[in-house]
Amino acid sequence: MIESVLTLGAPQFWGLVTAYVVQLLVAAMLVAVLMRSVPDIPGPGWWLAGILVSLGGMLVAGAQMETTVPWRRAVYVLGDTALLTGIGLIGEGLRRFFGHRPGLLAVGALVAAEVLVGGWLELRGRSGMHVVLTSMLAMVLWWHAAWVAARELRPGYRALLLGVLLCALVQSAGWGLRAALVGWGRLQDNVAAANSVLALVSFVASGVLALLFVLLVNFRLGERLRQLAIRDPLTGALNRRGFEIAAGRLATLAVRMGQPIALLMLDLDHFKRVNDTYGHEVGDRVLRALVQLVHRAKRETDVLARLGGEEFCLVLPGTDVPGAKVFADRLRRSFEALEIDTGRSFVSCTMSIGVAYASASALAEGRADIVDLLRQADEALYEAKRAGRNRIRIFASPEVLSSRIDSRLFVTTGNMELTPPGH
Ligand code: GH3
Ligand code: MG
Ligand code: MG
Repeated sequence: MIESVLTLGAPQFWGLVTAYVVQLLVAAMLVAVLMRSVPDIPGPGWWLAGILVSLGGMLVAGAQMETTVPWRRAVYVLGDTALLTGIGLIGEGLRRFFGHRPGLLAVGALVAAEVLVGGWLELRGRSGMHVVLTSMLAMVLWWHAAWVAARELRPGYRALLLGVLLCALVQSAGWGLRAALVGWGRLQDNVAAANSVLALVSFVASGVLALLFVLLVNFRLGERLRQLAIRDPLTGALNRRGFEIAAGRLATLAVRMGQPIALLMLDLDHFKRVNDTYGHEVGDRVLRALVQLVHRAKRETDVLARLGGEEFCLVLPGTDVPGAKVFADRLRRSFEALEIDTGRSFVSCTMSIGVAYASASALAEGRADIVDLLRQADEALYEAKRAGRNRIRIFASPEVLSSRIDSRLFVTTGNMELTPPGH
């Protein structure tokens, strides 16, 4: 009863299959264009291979339905093997796109099961069991694709991946229904209904899936361009534009969380001499070494940016004056101790640091913002340079001065001094 409702007539069925083939060809073309335009994004190559192999499998499987050649059973196994390989390659493309370990071995094992067990079932004339086996293997492969998408459901990609997840689940449901229809009924009665359901489901889900793949690559490309626009290519630190975005976000967050902010301005000492003595390339190496050192020392929420040639800014949310002082001095000392390989010898360099601080209430009441902190840290840095370099100065804003705990920190010691406002 249900089979007759589900079964498409021959013209409709072959019409649908033809539309599906055209759709897959268009999808293959789209993905091929993606592959050419962004060759270094992994995924599209696998998707293209998956689409083409599935297409081949469908044509072979379809052809055997219309023939009575003696090697029909072998053709059947071949067609199904190609279909399963195609699905496996599409899942593999998703894995590669998201940087997972290759999973081809598992795909290979499932395909081998199809060849061996499916071939054996066909030899014994149990085509119905073979249909069930193939359908269940296809279900597993689509589950796998759905699982890869589910693991990556994070902000940004979420809507696209929900779509991929849904398409993969719908495809697996189509194959599952095929297994159920054939498994529970007699092959001759039900296989037409099963294939009709599968053709319909695959037609809809594959079309959407191809579109989602294009959007995924597009999204990745956009993300990459955004990164290029906000990062300094030499050191990988944020550039000024990236700094403005990140620092603005940090300031808003600090106000909401009731946190203070400390800001450090770093400048290499006599860096021109390093360039003049060892060459620009060594100078570049020193800049990269400093960024690596800061990245290792800072918290994940701290923001580092290269604001000019050898001038860097570090924003530390939730850090008070003692904390900023300890951190800045640790950075200064570790950089001083760093020996950078020039190829022939080792060079070391020092830096001066200006520190500025704004309490949570000053930020919340609008008495201080990032622009003020930048100016104050710059002033403190200038003082550090004037006092002989390789040292730290802390800008003494009225609120830093009025803080009893803080003021005890500003005893004049070797490398640490308070910079009074306006000096
Ligand atoms: P001070 O201690 O007063 O800061 O002296 P300085 O020599 O570090 O400062 P100055 O501003 O005179 O020189 C900065 C130097 O930074 C000049 C420039 O050659 C170098 N510089 C700027 N950008 C780069 C870069 O991308 N790579 C290299 N290698 N050097 C750079
Ligand atoms: Mg300098
Ligand atoms: Mg400078």
